[in-house]
Amino acid sequence: MEKKAKIKIAITIASLAAISILFTRQQRRRRKLNQCSQYSCYLQSEPKPQHNFKRVLADNSYSPFKHANKEKSSGSHPYELEITALLENPRPEFDFSNVDLDLQRSDSFVWVETKSQLNELANALSKEFFFAVDTEQHSLRSFLGFTALIQISTEKEDYLVDTIALHDEISILQPFFADPGVCKVFHGSDNDVMWLQRDFHIYVVNLFDTAKACEVLSKPQKSLAYLLETYCGVATNKFLQREDWRQRPLPAEMLQYAQTDAHYLLYIAKCLVAELKQQGNENSYCPDDKFNFVLEASRRSNTVCLQVYTKEIESYPGEAAASSIFFRLLNGQGGVSSISSVTQDLVRRLCAWRDLMARVHDESLRFVLSDQAIIALANKAPANPTDVYTTIAQADSDVDCLNLSSSLPSPSPVVCSHLDDVERQVCNNVENLDDILLANLQKCLGPNGSCPLSVFNYVLPAKSNWELKNQSNKFVYKQNGVKVSRQVAKKASRDLFVQKFSCKSPVYHNCRIYANDGRLLCYCDRKKLEWYLTRDLAKLVEDNPPAIMLLFEPKGRPEDEGNEFYIQSKKNICVSCGEGNHYLRYRIIPSCYRIHFPEQLKSHRSHDIVLLCVDCHEVAHAAAEKYKKQISAEFGIPLFIHKVADSRKAEARPGFSASITNFEAGVSPLQLRTAAMALLHHGPTMPSNRREELRRIVMRYYGGREISQEDLERALLVGMSPRERRRHAKKRGLSLKMSKPTDFPDRQQDSYPAVMVESATMDATKADNVLGLHAIETQKSGEKEGRSSLTESHESKPPTCSNGGIDQLVFSTIWKKMNSTSKVSDSKDDSVGNVDDECENSSVQNGFGSSSPTPNSKVSLLGHGPHGKQVVDYLLREYGEDGIRQFCQRWRQVFVEALHPHFLPAGWDVMHSGRREFGEFSVYNPAKKPADDGAAEINKMHH
Ligand code: AMP
Ligand code: MN
Ligand code: ZN
Repeated sequence: MEKKAKIKIAITIASLAAISILFTRQQRRRRKLNQCSQYSCYLQSEPKPQHNFKRVLADNSYSPFKHANKEKSSGSHPYELEITALLENPRPEFDFSNVDLDLQRSDSFVWVETKSQLNELANALSKEFFFAVDTEQHSLRSFLGFTALIQISTEKEDYLVDTIALHDEISILQPFFADPGVCKVFHGSDNDVMWLQRDFHIYVVNLFDTAKACEVLSKPQKSLAYLLETYCGVATNKFLQREDWRQRPLPAEMLQYAQTDAHYLLYIAKCLVAELKQQGNENSYCPDDKFNFVLEASRRSNTVCLQVYTKEIESYPGEAAASSIFFRLLNGQGGVSSISSVTQDLVRRLCAWRDLMARVHDESLRFVLSDQAIIALANKAPANPTDVYTTIAQADSDVDCLNLSSSLPSPSPVVCSHLDDVERQVCNNVENLDDILLANLQKCLGPNGSCPLSVFNYVLPAKSNWELKNQSNKFVYKQNGVKVSRQVAKKASRDLFVQKFSCKSPVYHNCRIYANDGRLLCYCDRKKLEWYLTRDLAKLVEDNPPAIMLLFEPKGRPEDEGNEFYIQSKKNICVSCGEGNHYLRYRIIPSCYRIHFPEQLKSHRSHDIVLLCVDCHEVAHAAAEKYKKQISAEFGIPLFIHKVADSRKAEARPGFSASITNFEAGVSPLQLRTAAMALLHHGPTMPSNRREELRRIVMRYYGGREISQEDLERALLVGMSPRERRRHAKKRGLSLKMSKPTDFPDRQQDSYPAVMVESATMDATKADNVLGLHAIETQKSGEKEGRSSLTESHESKPPTCSNGGIDQLVFSTIWKKMNSTSKVSDSKDDSVGNVDDECENSSVQNGFGSSSPTPNSKVSLLGHGPHGKQVVDYLLREYGEDGIRQFCQRWRQVFVEALHPHFLPAGWDVMHSGRREFGEFSVYNPAKKPADDGAAEINKMHH
């Protein structure tokens, strides 16, 4: 009875306990789930040691690792020459025999964690001819892993170098590692050699690897534990190898382990070299070849040095992991076809997502999401965040039960911070994987991104977009092979455009500016770096591409102020389609308006000038032209000054104009120019009726009087902006002095008195746009603006300058068009097109005559300049600067709607305000203004 009661009580207690355990577990899960649904990234509250690194050589982007540059290095390894020299001619001076090596270990070591301590170490190493090295790594909470500790042992001392505290300083040890006169002793150096390259650009030259010596000696084992035991009688606990080496302070046990790993290496090397010599002597009949065991060990060691660190490049993110999961799923089953295509697709999606998230958060793949969790998710395809959560937790706990070793949080904080993204990954079968990944990236790192931006992931948006896009482009290309081949003819002429008009060198230099705490402030061009450097406001921290660190506290941080745009490296690709082989600048706000903006609103150039490929350029331009028409209607301001006549001269000769009445109609500037050009170049050879027709056009301009050769030459300049004129004059070899200001009829028309404004009907200027050529050309002429270059090369030219090539093409197009003008001139043509062929740079006004530039002097009568001016004047008058800002936003909207660009830098924003203040040291601070005003890459840190 008593027994029964006891059992009952026991059962009750046990079940109560079980229930309460279950309950608290559920509670915990629910609580965790609630935490999960919050949007902020766990990294916001979990600082990681690597976030303090300033110089990160191997970032998490998909771009290849950049090795150190060294003069005279031909291949990818900067010390290839030195190492191959060693291989061909080994230094047989592995003579440790004279050295009194201390087998007795001492507990003392030198902990190196400050710069001055590091300098002392460097000083000590400069006196050594050999030293031993080992490294400890951390790889769980980092995508590529990083060196957490370097152990260096000399005959006299053991150094433990804290490579977390000194991450950005370690490079001062480079010369000792690269010195062929100093032998470095490692054990099993294959990984260490790469890790040192990856983190510090440290390249090992002249290596003695005790493991390689074991190989040459055909030792039964070649592990360090074996060598320590047999040569030194020391036992080690190799489990400590896998400990978290980021810990500070390191536990005594780990310190001792680390010290031991390097301390005995010199002694072991000495023993092994003696054995190698011994072996060599036994084979002494052939001293110089392979049987020289010392040399063989040296050769094998230095072959390791020739390896170069590379990032694994996959053709698609997570591809390798997906393959290995398929392999595991298939274990014991039939081929890949036995896995349903739905499951395969899910595995690929999840692997890609995991890869991207691991890079963004700088975590290892296994920390983000385990393989078994991916398999479970792919099989179950959970439909809501809760299911996603439990599926992952279940899959991981099943495996935990089996090997009890894993203590990783499951689901990981990464998954928890982005639960709904995982769900989208699983549920959305329709969306293109590219799009999902890009959307994820935008969400994490883009404007208002949820995850912190660090040196590890700041290049990620740029590079990943590119890679992914190229990938899918290839795919599309193959699928649409037929379609592509049909366009060959079109392609040929397009190629010609590309060749002629695309930017000849990368537009963005992608130099970086860091704050003094190592935060990235912005990308910019070289000139800006120089500006700070020459004023001692910054120091150079990296060479290629250059990066500087400011020595003063900048006014604001990009992260603080929602200006992520300026801390994106800018890709030299079309922002719309990702085309990377050619691109040209496109101004989102047509320059016919922008040149009239107040100066302070013009400063956002880098935001509103983007790169587009020729095709996207055409689309964007067409949309802009259409929108101009809409603006024209909305504001009641016509686009074209249709015809211009030299009426002043006509007035001066009243008799003349009275006698030839039909000359009063005026003539369009382009018509005039092309007529004059044709007469000058082809007059004598053209049919006489055509010549007469053209002559009458020019005569009309001069009020009907007879025209001379000189008149024809002056007519070429009508309607040109001063910049165009200068260029033209230069081209034709005309001296500026020769042409007096008064020789240019239109210069005298300060306020278009003789201009007859008509609504846009068919106009000869449309000829420019038959191929969209002029548009591109003028965009290009303005592109200098996008660069902070002080040198002004004027690339704009009148389209009729027939110097062969494309110009000739333009010319003949216009010619054809003009020949048919009489027939079509009355037809309403809807394909509106004209160009902004004015130059934006108002400093170029002094080229011709007048030293007091008038507002009109920068307006070409050929384009929409006058329209632009009237629109801007109207906006300023009615709405002030806000009117201009809204106007800009409208244009950005037009751009976005025309192209739906995929590759706009994160942080690019239709609503971009254009408001800007200047920091004390800013290049743009008007008070500081020493030189650089045409800068394109805006100094956003002072935004
Ligand atoms: P060692 O060459 O033994 O000093 O190892 C250097 C680093 O390699 C360690 O700090 C670990 O990060 C890593 N490592 C070496 N072996 C293992 C292993 N079996 N498992 C995990 N990490 C390892
Ligand atoms: Mn070690
Ligand atoms: Zn494009």
